[in-house]
Amino acid sequence: MGGKTVGHDSPAGDLRLANLTKRFGIFTAVDDLSLTIPQGSFFALLGASGCGKTTTLRMIAGLEEPTSGQVLLGDRDIARLRPYKRPVNTVFQSYALFPHLDIFENVAFGLRRRGIRKVDDQVRRMLSLVQLDGYERRRPAQLSGGQQQRVALARALINHPQVLLLDEPLGALDLKLRRQMQIELKRIQIEVGITFVHVTHDQEEAMTMADTVAVMNAGRIEQLGAPADLYEFPATPFVASFLGQSNLIAGDAAGASGGDIGVSAHGARFSVPAGRARAERGPVFLGVRPEKLHLVDSAEQVPAGHQHVPGVVTDASYVGVSTQYLIRTAWGSELSVFAANSGAGRPAAGRRPGGGVLGPAARLPAAPRAGRERPHLAAAG
Ligand code: ATP
Repeated sequence: MGGKTVGHDSPAGDLRLANLTKRFGIFTAVDDLSLTIPQGSFFALLGASGCGKTTTLRMIAGLEEPTSGQVLLGDRDIARLRPYKRPVNTVFQSYALFPHLDIFENVAFGLRRRGIRKVDDQVRRMLSLVQLDGYERRRPAQLSGGQQQRVALARALINHPQVLLLDEPLGALDLKLRRQMQIELKRIQIEVGITFVHVTHDQEEAMTMADTVAVMNAGRIEQLGAPADLYEFPATPFVASFLGQSNLIAGDAAGASGGDIGVSAHGARFSVPAGRARAERGPVFLGVRPEKLHLVDSAEQVPAGHQHVPGVVTDASYVGVSTQYLIRTAWGSELSVFAANSGAGRPAAGRRPGGGVLGPAARLPAAPRAGRERPHLAAAG
């Protein structure tokens, strides 16, 4: 297929996916996806294995042809340009460095391929950007995994792509190095100002780095927004459970009154501020994060204005930063409660399974209850 190369240095504009669909036979991997990624932003596609995020990335890169839909960069549809004609570079989990070339030549590769002879300054600037000054003459095998990933990044960035695609780039690194590289990647993105589109199944990674996170499920976007917004006010039970842990209680909303929505669940009545509800009437899930539940020993200790659920501690796991409790409720399902080991107040580890407790729940958000979705707590009961 013909088509001109889009200038790598010309202004890019936003990256827009318009009704992008990919089918493999009768299976739809990406289902009518539409979204806009603002120029210069750090965008994460987050989802479980098989949800279609890599296929989406590959369509942006030109490694997979869409069944239908557009990939627009600014006003230009690049969906049918060959990969090398797109102002897009990809960094993969496998670094794919050339083992026989030293680090300098690995980074210089893209420039040399374009016939550029004077590469010294640019290569050194890139190595400095990824903090690998002095490693020019080493071979990839003489570097650690994190260092090799930095070389892969420098090799992509030297081409001045308008969009950098990152496909689980930190997947092969150990946890500590991953955390370090997340901060590093964010710094580099801010410094170069290029649009980064990052694919990951690691919610912490997406939330640490991205300005905007799109949670994907079965080829579609469930919710898109700033990490804190997704975490604090998830739109669906899937997002609530995928992004961190959530207690979801199936109930029925009875409409708004005085700024609150009344919800009945398992014979109890709760209220939710209307601003934190996505549905006013009908079947809903009440969602509350484990760290927002607090344990007290008796109903008298529940602070005024808080709501509570009676239950019994069935498990306490000390995980260092917090102690994580499972509370069996009167209706049989379990709620998770995280108590920070902050050193303040009664030691959390002092609570033992078997004790009668109450968990007061403040600020319960409600999400609409879709027909097929089941709360993970209800399923346990
Ligand atoms: P992972 O994190 O495991 O890579 P993903 O979300 O990136 O998962 P994709 O690689 O995009 O998922 O795959 C989405 C779905 O499309 C999967 O069910 C996968 O089996 C299917 N799929 C991907 N490529 C092909 C192909 N070439 N032929 C048939 N099915 C495919």
